Amino acid sequence: MKAFAYVNPTSEKDAVAALKIDGVAMPIGGGQDILARMKDYITQPDRIVNVKTALESAVTPASGGLRIGAAMRMVDLAEHPDVLRLYPAIAAAAIEVGTPQIRNQATVGGNLNQRPRCWYYRNEEFVCFKKGGSTCFSPAGENQFHAIFGSGPSFIVHPSSLAVPMLAYGATFRLAGPTGERLVPAADYFTMPTLQNVRTENVLKPSELLTHVLLPAPGSQKSGHYEVRYKTSHDWPIAFATVLLTMNGPTVQAARVVMGAVAPVPWRSTAAEQALAGKAVDEQTAAAAAEAALRGARPLSQNAYKIQVAKTAVKRAILRAAGIQTV
Ligand SMILES: Cc1cc2nc3c(=O)[nH]c(=O)nc-3n(C[C@H](O)[C@H](O)[C@H](O)COP(=O)(O)OP(=O)(O)OC[C@H]3O[C@@H](n4cnc5c(N)ncnc54)[C@H](O)[C@@H]3O)c2cc1C
Repeated sequence: MKAFAYVNPTSEKDAVAALKIDGVAMPIGGGQDILARMKDYITQPDRIVNVKTALESAVTPASGGLRIGAAMRMVDLAEHPDVLRLYPAIAAAAIEVGTPQIRNQATVGGNLNQRPRCWYYRNEEFVCFKKGGSTCFSPAGENQFHAIFGSGPSFIVHPSSLAVPMLAYGATFRLAGPTGERLVPAADYFTMPTLQNVRTENVLKPSELLTHVLLPAPGSQKSGHYEVRYKTSHDWPIAFATVLLTMNGPTVQAARVVMGAVAPVPWRSTAAEQALAGKAVDEQTAAAAAEAALRGARPLSQNAYKIQVAKTAVKRAILRAAGIQTV
């Protein structure tokens, strides 16, 4: 690993200042992603800024909703009584992340900003778009875990499990940087790759930090979260979904359907939401909405199987949200 300086700021202001240097400075939360990248020579910062000593790690009430500090550990998020009660799909996603050891270290800010797990990106030898190269190796290569939505130029899937329910609940992210703070809806935070902007996965600027997640006041919606993995391994899901249903008696008044691990960003399906609106939820309506969610998917050479997996995740998340027993 390349030698680097390590800084322990004790305030948000000092952390932002410590990120502004001649050279590359990067924040570190639990280090579960960045340290692996440094060891693999994918990321070679000159300075690492520990944000666990600088940012909040608590959940506090805010405007009828909750404010979550970016330094909060995943295990604390998953077990927090207010998160479990008011935003159960967030707790469900958090408790599925990695292993207990990973959740004990990893932070909310780090999880949302972790870099792609694409094996070409993670291999020093492949200089792909994400590392300043001029190609994505996955379309002609091993692409069984890659995107089935979006048309490149990079075919990564977004690696954050937390990002999906955050989008579903309409979270807003507070960012702090050298020119002040800004609030960005989760729906606008994650960015699709373009040839002009392919190296990053979000709108975060250099020297900026994600400091808080702001969750709006919860409505009366019911939620379901469903992840499909190989066996019950601790690896990332193959596909998953968060569904929120606002009911009007027995029928769906409004739905929110967001899928994960299918695209370079958390992938909202308004087609699935429309397929649910005004309907009573049963196996048939859930299956029809899942069909709608995957319409337009464009698999690569080895990942067409993900279409059926994602349909299953959406269908079961809908049934879970409706309180109908699933496996
Ligand atoms: C075997 C295994 C299985 C896993 N399974 C899953 C899974 O199912 N779902 C899932 O979501 N993840 C999974 N992970 C990934 C793991 O959850 C993430 O690596 C971890 O959540 C990252 O959090 P961290 O605090 O350790 O981040 P760090 O490694 O500290 O940081 C990650 C990135 O975010 C940046 N960063 C950190 N904090 C901030 C901040 N406040 N503002 C802006 N940028 C910031 C860092 O500079 C770095 O680039 C798995 C990991 C392993 C090893």
